[in-house]
Amino acid sequence: MIVMKFGGSSVANGERIRRMGQIVKDRLERRPVLVLSAMGDTTDHLLEASQEALKEGTVSIEKIQDLHLKTIEELNLKKTAPELKVLLEELRDLLAGISLIRELTRRTRDYLVSFGERFSVRIAAAYFNSIHIKAQAVDAWDAGFVSDSNYGAAELLPESWNRIPRALEPLAEKGTLPVLTGFIAKDEAGNITTLGRGGSDLSATTIAAACRAEEVQVWKDVDGILTADPRLVKNARPVEEVTYEEASEMAYFGAQVLHPRAMLPCIKTGVPVLVKNSYNIGAPGTRVVSSLDRKAGPVRAITSRKNVTLVDVVSTRMVGQHGFLEEVFTAFAKHGISVDMVATSEVSVSLTLDAVHDLGGLKKDLAKIASVEIKTGRAIVTIVGDVRRSSEILSRAFGVCVVLGVQVQMVSQGASKVNISFIVNDTQAAEVVTALHITFFE
Ligand code: ASP
Ligand code: MG
Repeated sequence: MIVMKFGGSSVANGERIRRMGQIVKDRLERRPVLVLSAMGDTTDHLLEASQEALKEGTVSIEKIQDLHLKTIEELNLKKTAPELKVLLEELRDLLAGISLIRELTRRTRDYLVSFGERFSVRIAAAYFNSIHIKAQAVDAWDAGFVSDSNYGAAELLPESWNRIPRALEPLAEKGTLPVLTGFIAKDEAGNITTLGRGGSDLSATTIAAACRAEEVQVWKDVDGILTADPRLVKNARPVEEVTYEEASEMAYFGAQVLHPRAMLPCIKTGVPVLVKNSYNIGAPGTRVVSSLDRKAGPVRAITSRKNVTLVDVVSTRMVGQHGFLEEVFTAFAKHGISVDMVATSEVSVSLTLDAVHDLGGLKKDLAKIASVEIKTGRAIVTIVGDVRRSSEILSRAFGVCVVLGVQVQMVSQGASKVNISFIVNDTQAAEVVTALHITFFE
């Protein structure tokens, strides 16, 4: 079997759903299990509606209702309308509840956003049946997805691994196409949970790993994982193959391609992932696998993140001392500030963080133990590739910076086997990324 996951843009409207139908139909002999996201931007619209209910006390589901009912009409699925209307009614009641009590807990928010996926699988399954592909909509909790109760970012419990194949087997035996909700689960108490934004990738890879599928296909609206952000680098192109580690690293560093945790089930079992474009079926896409051919180049992709703050902490007290780093990190913890990159020398520590914090209190606390300098307006440039070839990568990258006259302000390469990062000024990030792309890919 294979698992096919279609993201929001691949099921955004009637026409997209028809296209998906064709893609699935052409692969029926591979016994697909489908995992779907909510249609288009429905998850965002649900979150907006919840804020309106909370802040303004109004219940508005027009945008959501119109999209789904219009799609049913476009696809000639009138028989599905009553079932959908029941769910829409439940959604309206929930929003009315929020608007009355003016309270929205994380648990309620998960219940609320779960409607997006529950709508999309019902419409899709009805569409498959209408084109004579026997299909059944399945809510994740009926397919064995059990999670902890960390609403908004729930983790699947190990039991899921046994329950999922057991739940899907009867459908497979009947030759019915399962159409599963991505993104959601239930905790042991029976409350609906979500796996974090973009979590349907993780749903798909979990099913694939638990059922020992041959492959996971992730259908998106781009040609695969790209070598750089196409808004920054016009020659960015899809990467043919990356490793699971490289793909996760890219997800953490802002390439919006796969859910950061989605690779974990694959790392455990080695099931390959194929990222494909549902708008451009002919494009080969990107394969994500456990290890690459030796012929692969040293670099897979170049990403950057702007608006980064660099904190330099210098103290001669650090020489030969223990406990200094602990004091530094305790100060960050006290102010609830998470650190991204760290580099240390005998007498100094440099750290980076996202520029969303008020650093007054932190600066005061750090000043008690060392001299502190805070530099805003920086960017992290990250090269994702084979760190076993780091000398080659670094020498070429720094060569580029020398030519551009760009001062590198901090470098970090270590724990991760796939990530080399360095700090430059925000204003230079685009230029550096473009030049690195030319060096490594063009
Ligand atoms: N619909 C959810 C989201 O927009 C989950 C997903 O698309 O994977 O985050
Ligand atoms: Mg989505």
